[in-house]
Amino acid sequence: MTEKKSVPFGLPYITKDEIDEVIEALRSGWISTGPKSVELEEKLREYIGTKYSAIVSSCTAALHLALCAYDIKEGDEVITSPYTFIATTESILYTGAKPVFVDIHKDTLNIDPAKIEKAITKRTKAIVPVHIAGHPCEMDEIMKIAKKHNLIVIEDAAHAFGTYYKSKKIGTIGDATCFSFYATKNLTTGEGGMITTNNKKIAEKIKLLRLHGMSRDAWKRYSKEGSWYYEILTTGYKYNISDIHSALGIQQLKKFEKMQKMREKIVNTYDEAFSKIKELQIPVIKDYSTTHAYHLYIIKIVPELLKIDRTKFIELLRAENIGTGVHFIPLHLMPFYKQTFGFKKGDFPNAEWAYERTISLPLYPGLTSEDVKYIIKKVKDSVAGNSRRK
Ligand SMILES: *Cc1c(COP(=O)(O)O)cnc(C)c1O
Repeated sequence: MTEKKSVPFGLPYITKDEIDEVIEALRSGWISTGPKSVELEEKLREYIGTKYSAIVSSCTAALHLALCAYDIKEGDEVITSPYTFIATTESILYTGAKPVFVDIHKDTLNIDPAKIEKAITKRTKAIVPVHIAGHPCEMDEIMKIAKKHNLIVIEDAAHAFGTYYKSKKIGTIGDATCFSFYATKNLTTGEGGMITTNNKKIAEKIKLLRLHGMSRDAWKRYSKEGSWYYEILTTGYKYNISDIHSALGIQQLKKFEKMQKMREKIVNTYDEAFSKIKELQIPVIKDYSTTHAYHLYIIKIVPELLKIDRTKFIELLRAENIGTGVHFIPLHLMPFYKQTFGFKKGDFPNAEWAYERTISLPLYPGLTSEDVKYIIKKVKDSVAGNSRRK
């Protein structure tokens, strides 16, 4: 008998280091964008290895700014996958452009490059690949198509901080890459995001747009070397990040590799426990995924071998106090997208196929080995009690 536990789906890994750094920011008197944000932005840039980085209030803001900086606007089309979080397409809609969906691979859940060209029209301006769960998209193929058709590539790397595609770190490949530091992500600032790029003009434009289109940011204006003077050069946004958030990020980045090792250990334990269970499929990792960020652990049920569906499976785990998630409900099935763009069930069969099967299990550094054992036991029990195999 295992004792009944309670395991939430996600928890940030916050220790005394983060708490002390945030308190220092609070005590310093500078709590909005300031020295800690400057420090974090530079450390993140170094970590990714691009020429430029811009930290902002969220990945949604990062995507919006990257699209704006590349002049994506009304009348344009942007290709992405329907198997993602709403932020990916919401940011496209902010610009007035139209999101155009391309179906995914059933195994990695990432956009299928072989289907991209068919979706390209005269209006297509950009591709936004999403590295689901931390598994990289096939970037060589995507960059080749983009080059051939003169398209911009803006990556949604909300799950992929720390991911490598072949020998390249995610963040260094596309024209711009957007990261999330939301509470549940591998590295968190509570709320936050970043754009990385090697394009100087684009980086400058993003930095202008992220704070009201002001020619100098607040920190420079009020510091000793600055002055009261500023100029408005365009209509910008209020997308800056605070030093309270950045303080958290500075300490998270210091322990990032350690946190990734903790994730990897949990993934290996899950893989070993579930790989022989025919009713379940463990996450597929392709050889071009040289470092996986292990943001999510997404199992797929095999409905043909089970008497219960994905929803019932989740209910059984919830009854055992295990939090799970479904990543993702395909966007073309959302009422607003159906109404606005005329999408219907059947439009993206692989995304729908995945939606019927996927369950994300808890995966975060703070999970204890007891938690992991408990989850494995309850998943195995749910399979054993509902298998069609004899
Ligand atoms: C979390 C997430 C985002 C949005 O991140 P925020 O920082 O919350 O704006 C975007 N895309 C994907 C795939 C995500 O999972």
